[in-house]
Formats: sequence, structure tokens, C-alpha cells
Amino acid sequence: MRRGARRQLCALALITALTFAFAESFALRTVESGDSIGSIAHRYGVSAASVLAANGLNGTLIQPGEVLRIPLGDATGGLVVAAPEPPPRFRRHVLASGETLSEIVARYGITLSALVGANPDLSSLDRLPVGVELLIPPGEGLVVVLHDPSSLGDLIEAHGADQVSVARANALRSPFDLRPGMLLFLPGVEPKAELERLARVREEENRYVWPVHGRLTSYFGRRNLGLGTAAFHRGIDVAAPTGTPIVAARSGTVTYAGWSSRGYGNLVRIRHAGGAETWYAHASRILVSVGQYVSQGDRIALIGSTGLSTGPHLHFELHVNGVAIDPLQELR
Ligand SMILES: [Zn+2]
Repeated sequence: MRRGARRQLCALALITALTFAFAESFALRTVESGDSIGSIAHRYGVSAASVLAANGLNGTLIQPGEVLRIPLGDATGGLVVAAPEPPPRFRRHVLASGETLSEIVARYGITLSALVGANPDLSSLDRLPVGVELLIPPGEGLVVVLHDPSSLGDLIEAHGADQVSVARANALRSPFDLRPGMLLFLPGVEPKAELERLARVREEENRYVWPVHGRLTSYFGRRNLGLGTAAFHRGIDVAAPTGTPIVAARSGTVTYAGWSSRGYGNLVRIRHAGGAETWYAHASRILVSVGQYVSQGDRIALIGSTGLSTGPHLHFELHVNGVAIDPLQELR
């Protein structure tokens, strides 16, 4: 307990020293008669733009007696213009053709959460362009850009990070180790917002694929049964030879797998995120069981002609919030 408190105090002292010392890396210069922004910048070996920026000036007009801040950090390190260096102990991985993020995390022995934390701008979990460069972190945490070195303390606090761990993970020993635009690793911080965003992207990307390849023999909607009677066809029919595999149109959980007395014969139903459900009817054989999670493209049943059917085919329905809609709107 006492030891923890002391550790905390040391960490605070370190961060205070870092931010204070960085603030001290500005030189103060009183403007003299005949001075210009350009001549002052030249004398200190910094750019005129950085002097303007450091003093919040829009124009170059300065008055004698005015006190200017000269950003010395700029003179010693310069602003980062190239792609920032990853934090210490990070590796890089260039995505190869056909490679998935699951394979990458397995290979490096990290979690998907850690990978996302190291690459918070990731556009997708499933459809990344070949050749994209990923940072491989040493562990769980979040990488952030340090826009303003004097805000380091606020940044650490805002993310609930541990100050000692941050200093250690980023090899911060002196204020001169801090650079505007540098990548900072916050160990132990979960990339919650990023994971949620990527889950929404995945949901959007994860649409429906054809459950079987065959001949479309009947469309969704009203159809004439002859003799002046009509019925509403709640799905589409795809004819294929008996025994042809039927695959899950989208990932989800099996909610029904068995005989249906309502004419569907052997029926599989799969529930998906967002209140959707897909139905696969007339199977000769069912390959899944209730409660099982299936991925898009997994084999779930074989084509048959069970129930009210006149030949081997798949009757496929798509329900959204309990209402059957035309699957052709969603299939690709
Ligand atoms: Zn049908």
C-alpha cells in the first residue's frame, strides 16, 4: 500500500518534470528595435513559421518590448514530417495477399484488441488492402499521437493510463524525448471506441452470400397457383441436385435445426446480428444443431426435397425483425 503510493508519487513527479521541462524549452526573447521574426528565427536556428506558431501570431508585425517564445525543441529535433516512428519494441508487418488479421495475431502471439490498439485507424478487420503496414505491439494498449508535448499529462489522464508504464513503454527519459506528432504507446489501455467502430464496419461489410449455386426457379412475392388462386411466396427457390451443400448466407447462431410440420421439411434457421434471420428449407440432411455458431460460407445442410416440395431445391427466406423480405435485395 505504502509502496504503491510512493510509486504513484514518483510517476507524478516524472510527468510534471517532463511537461514543465518541455515548457522550459522555449527561450524568451524581448524584441528589440530593428528585429524581425525572420532575423530572430535565424539567430536561434529555428523556422519563422515555428516562431509565429509558438506565439499565436498571424502576421510578422512585432513591436519592440514584446516578449516572444522561441521554441527550442524545434531547433534540437525539428518537426516530424515523415511517418512517425513506432514506439519502442514495436514491429512492422506488411499485409500479404490472402492474409487475415486472425493469422497475424496468432503468429505474433497477441490479441486482436492489442492489434487494433496499435493500429487505431484500421479501416476494417476483414477487408484490408494488400500491402498495408500494420504495427505489431509488444502487448495490450493503445497508440495515440502526441500532438502537443505539453499535454502529455492530460493525455495520460484522459485515457486512464499508468504514468510509469507510459514513460517506460516509450523510453521517455527527458523532455527532449518528446516530439510533436510522435506515436505514444499507452500500455493497458483498451481500444474500446476503435473496437466498437470496427465491429460496426464488420457488420456493414458482412452482408449475405448465396446459400447455394443453382437455378433460380421461383421469386419472392405473389405467385399464381393456377385456377384463380394466388399465394404469397415468402422466399426464393434455387434448384440444385440432391446432396448439394447449402452454406450459411451470413454468420450467425442456429436457432432451429429439424423437421418443420409447416411444409418446410428439414429446416435450418440462423439468427444474425441486427434482428435478421435466414431460413433454409427442404434439406435432405441437416449438418448443424441449435445453438451452434456458424460463419458465413459454412456448410449447414444438403439440398433435398423434404416437406411440401416437388423436386430438389432450396427454399430460402430472409426475415428482418420478423418480417420476410425479398432475399434478392440483399444477396450478392
Ligand atoms: Zn419456395
